[in-house]
Formats: sequence, structure tokens, C-alpha cells
Amino acid sequence: METVLISPAQATIVGIPTVIFSLLIPLIGVGVFAYIIARRLKPLVLAAPDQRFDHFTQRLLNMLKYAIGQYRHLRYMDAGVIHIFLFAGFMILSLRSITLVLLGISEGYVLPGMGGPVGVAYGILKDFAGTWILAACVAAMVRRGVLKPERYAVPPKYGKDHTWEAMLVLLLITGLVTCDMVFEGSQAAAQIQKGLKTELLVPGTGTWFATHILSASPLDRLQNLHLGAYFSHEMIFFFFLCFLPFGKHFHVITSLPNVFFLKLNRGTVKPVQWGVADDQLDDLESFGVKTFEDFTWKHMLDFYSCVDCGRCSDNCPANAAGRPLSPRFISVKCRNYSFAKYPLYGQPVNGRSLIGNVLEEDEIWSCTTCGACEEECPVLIEYIDKIVDVRRGMVDDGRVPQSLQKPLGALEKRGNPYGKTAKKRADWIKDLPEDCNIKILEKEETADVLYFVDSITSYDDRIQEIGRATARILLTAAIDFGILGPAEKDSGHEVKRFGEEMLFQKLRDHNTDEIIKSGVQSIVTADPHAFNALKNDYQSLPPVEHVSQMIARAIKGGKIRLKEVEDNGVTYTYHDPCYLGRHNGLYDIPRDVIDAIPNLKRVEMSKCKDRSFCCGGGGLMLFYEPEEEIRMGNLRVKMAEQAGADVIVTACPFCLVNIEDAIKTSGLEGKMEAMDLVELIERHMVHDARLNGSTFKVPG
Ligand code: SF4
Ligand code: SF4
Repeated sequence: METVLISPAQATIVGIPTVIFSLLIPLIGVGVFAYIIARRLKPLVLAAPDQRFDHFTQRLLNMLKYAIGQYRHLRYMDAGVIHIFLFAGFMILSLRSITLVLLGISEGYVLPGMGGPVGVAYGILKDFAGTWILAACVAAMVRRGVLKPERYAVPPKYGKDHTWEAMLVLLLITGLVTCDMVFEGSQAAAQIQKGLKTELLVPGTGTWFATHILSASPLDRLQNLHLGAYFSHEMIFFFFLCFLPFGKHFHVITSLPNVFFLKLNRGTVKPVQWGVADDQLDDLESFGVKTFEDFTWKHMLDFYSCVDCGRCSDNCPANAAGRPLSPRFISVKCRNYSFAKYPLYGQPVNGRSLIGNVLEEDEIWSCTTCGACEEECPVLIEYIDKIVDVRRGMVDDGRVPQSLQKPLGALEKRGNPYGKTAKKRADWIKDLPEDCNIKILEKEETADVLYFVDSITSYDDRIQEIGRATARILLTAAIDFGILGPAEKDSGHEVKRFGEEMLFQKLRDHNTDEIIKSGVQSIVTADPHAFNALKNDYQSLPPVEHVSQMIARAIKGGKIRLKEVEDNGVTYTYHDPCYLGRHNGLYDIPRDVIDAIPNLKRVEMSKCKDRSFCCGGGGLMLFYEPEEEIRMGNLRVKMAEQAGADVIVTACPFCLVNIEDAIKTSGLEGKMEAMDLVELIERHMVHDARLNGSTFKVPG
């Protein structure tokens, strides 16, 4: 196409051919960028190993879903829409940016395959993309600068606000698309003035507007604008590229690989060290994460990828309760530390212990491992494994909170955190009616199914009711089951998550031997923590189910029939236990079981299913005395009250303890009640065949 204006590849400025600048700017830009990236990769090279190169296809699909498809962004609708427009626009304009760089070197350059109708179609698309990017930048600036959503705020103890950085990046993006519009618009205006052919101008786009605004400008001004816009675009583009690795916008580069390498097996905890078998752990000089380099390379990549969006902390129950933990700042602090320790010039600074310098002990013990942060993060950053790894380091150094020392000692000595004797472990069955005969598999009796009771249900007077209700349900459903009784020890679920790996392994090995010896075909438990431990932390066991799954099948198969709800003036709500829902995906089955009771009225709380709010944590969390402003259980009870519920049904003994306690301390005793799913079902089981039963569909 004949053009009026001289292109950046052919022009001269004070006698100097501009092609020199067209070559120098990218060469310097790419060189500086490569140097910065090489420095940023340095700690990753020194980091602990991580196994993330398996399941290539699954990883690729995850990347398409979460990174390219921006799957989690719409969980926050307004910010999500803006981000999706920016991201999609960026993807489209990336080809244009490459073309522009090469246009400065070779006049009229066209990328291979981009000639003819494909090029015309792309030209239209990129004009629209540039325009919507401009609109998205304005919307994002208004959100950041005027509306200021609370989740972006930085409490003084965590350092400085990063709004300036977000604003600068938005201005740079605005500059990039505007320069391209002026570059093309000046060309088109000149062509029109001379009655020559132009590129297709799409009405309503930024380029179209630029053409119209510039249509009356003299040719020499158009020429200056054309070259000025081109070189401004190049300068901004390469400055932007080199600026990215300096802060939270590093995610533009790292989030794609970060999502590709995401953890695939939820509910598990990473090994103490990848590549070191359990029986070699004694040979390790040190356990867990104590210095920055003890993190795995993937965990460091997480730090680089954090967008600083605050979605994790916005959903973190510990943060909501005023505990000294905000997951977002674990990433931000560690990223800042990494940048400071591995500067762009010179040698790395001598390392310091993470605890006390970057992270605080209370911060790390405050986490309930509920998984809300990981469920929410748009770039799938992991927290639980990191927190457990730091706890392992603290345990190795003998830094265990005072309140946890006694239960941990009791677990070591007696296999339960209460310090009770093993022979009392099956005492809860004594209060069952005489016709409820429970087999104790230790006594050489066999059964099809093992009911794994775990410590709290075995020893806590209130929670023993869950054990008895479970037993009665299993008997009614004609399931041949037994318990291990004194041979059972704590599942060790929380022991593992509190960083006591060696103690966990002792408990796991003992229980595994006893379960295998019992000869059962499957395992059922009413405790989601035991369920998660047996399913995800143990190996080589028969299949494990939560009791809600078994009840659902029994109702479907007609083995359990349910009568009309006892009091149809009462409204129920279901609280998702973290280790049933988020960690194991069981959201619908417990709800279907509740809804199978005819005429039961159930409402959802504002935070439910994968956004459920932790009750305060189970296992050893019951013994931990954190610094907090309000208890998580009280916040949860408030949510139930706001939903109009009179009864909170849960499916976890620890949730029941926390919620019952919160009902009392919230002054709602007598007005609100909490019960376990098995108690609700046991109360509504039909023993009289003449009564109407219910029917419902069990998923799968
Ligand atoms: S796992 Fe739960 S408590 Fe721990 S940091 Fe994440 S959201 Fe907070
Ligand atoms: S960890 Fe994820 S959710 Fe939290 S601030 Fe960083 S990017 Fe946002």
C-alpha cells in the first residue's frame, strides 16, 4: 500500500536514521529484561526440590482453564470483568506489539500468515481490543483511586500501600494503546488527506477516533506524531517489560507457569522433602522451612505470582477473626524478602531465619488449614503446604506453643490428645441400648466395614453422641461393621498439619497395621479430619467414605427411611466442614441427605459450599489459644442467624464443638441449636414401616 508518511524504518532525525533506534530500543530492552529475569531466577535454582513435571495434559488443561480462561476471576464480579477484558485485550495485542517492533526495522512488515483477509480480521479485532483495554484501564483506575475496595488496603504493620504501582501500570497500558492509536490514526489521516487507500477503519474504535481528531492536521505534524507515537510505544513497551519483575505485576509473566505447576492432589500435605522417603527422614539434618531457600522452587514462584489482590485474605477466617494472619502478606513479605536478599546487582545478602524476621510464630500457628485462601486465589497460590513446612521448621527447633505441648505429649504417649487410656477408647458404646451390638475388631471378629471413630468422638462426652448416632444408623442400614476400639489411635490428621511429621507417621503406621489386620473391605467415618487423613495421608488402605455418603446410599436403596421433619416451623442451615467440602469436594451429598427429610426447610448461609467459613478449626486447633478479636465460631453463628436459621447442621465433630460453644457465647442458647448430620438423621429414621418414607436422588 502506497503511504504518505515516512515509516520509522525509513525516517531520519537530525540526520540519524531512526532504524538505529528501532534496533537499539528492543535490543537494550530485551537484554535488560533477560538480565533481571536471570537474577530473579537465582533463588529458585537454590530452592528445595518440588515434583511438578507429571500429568502434562492435566496441567495444560488447568492452564487453559485457570490462566487463559481466567476461571476464578468472576468470583469477584466487577474486578473479574475488568481483569478478563484487560487480559483478553493483552493476548490479542501481543501480536500487534511484535509487529510494531519489526515495523520499525522493516517497512510494511507483516507477520507470517497475517496478510490478506486474516490480517484484515485481526486488524479489526485489535482495534476493538485496544479500545476496550482503554475503557478497562479507566474503570480500574476509578476502582483503585476512587472506590478503593477494602481488600486492597495495607495495614501499617504490613508495609506500604501498592496503589501507586497499580496506577503506574494502568497508565503504562493506557500509554501503549493510545500510542498505537495515534500511530495508525496519523497514518490514516494523512492517507485520507491525499485521497489514498487506508487500513480498514472500524467506527467507534480508538483508531477511528484518532483518525477523525487528526484529520485536519497538517502533514508535517502528522509525520511527527506518527514517529513520536511509534517510539513512545517502543519505549513504554520495553520499560513496561523490564518493570514487571519489580513487584506484583511480575504475575503477568509468572502466573502462566505457576498455574501449570499447580498442586494436583488436594487434601494432601507435601512430603517433608521431595525425593526423601519416610524411612530416610532421620538422616535429614534439618526439618521444614527455616530459611528462604528451604522453600521449594514452586513456592517461590508462588511468591512471584501473587497479584496482591487480597482475595485470599478477604476469605481467610483467621484474618476475619483478627488473628495475626493475612495470607496475602505471607506472599508479599516473602516476595519483598526475596528481592532484598537477591538484589539485581552484587552478591545475595546473608540469609536470616524466616521466623522473627519475615514471618511471625503466631502468624503461622493461626492458620486452621481451612483452604479458603487457596480456593479463592485466581492464580492458584498454595498456602497450606508452606505453612505446614514452616511449622515443621519451628517444631524441629522446639518452638511449639505452650498450649499445644501437653496434647502433643499425650498423643505421643497414649495415642490421643486427651491423655486418656486406650482401654477407655470404646467406652462410648456402653451407653448404646443392649440390642445395639458393636463388634470390636481387635477381638478377632471380622466385619465388612470399619467405623473409624477417632479421638474426639471416642473420648469427648458430648461428641460421643455422634459415635452412638453413627452406630445406630449403620445398624439400621444393616451394614456389617465394627470398630478397632482400644487398638485405634488418633488419625494424626492435625498432628501432620501442625508439623509433627514423625509423630504422625507413628500414628499412621500403627493404625494402618490394625486396619489391614482387621480384614475389612471398606472404612467409614463421621469425622472429616479422619476421613481426609485416611483417604489422603495414609496409603494402601481399603476405600474410605464419610458417613454422609453411606447414608445417602442407604436412603436411595430404601434401607433408611425418613419421617416428616419433627418441627416444621424450624429453619435449618448446613455448615460445610472444610475437610469434607473444600478439601474433598463433598458439598451436595450432605445437603441431599438433609433435604431427604420430608418438609424440612433449609436455607444457605451467605458463605457456603466452596466459600464456607471455617468454624475455628479442628484437632489440635481446639487446644491452641490464639490472639484474636472474635472467635470464628461466633462469626459463623452470626451468618446462620442472618440467614434466618434456627438449627445449624454440620457433619464434623470439631465443627459441632466450636459452633455449640459459639451459640452459648453469642447469647443464642435456647434460640439456636447445632447438631451433627448423623444426629439429625438418627432422629428422623423411621422404625415403623407404615410411616411414609422419602425418596431423593443421590448424585452419581
Ligand atoms: S488455610 Fe484458611 S486459615 Fe489458613 S491462611 Fe488459608 S484461609 Fe487463612
Ligand atoms: S495469594 Fe492469590 S488471592 Fe491472595 S493476594 Fe495473592 S494473588 Fe490474590
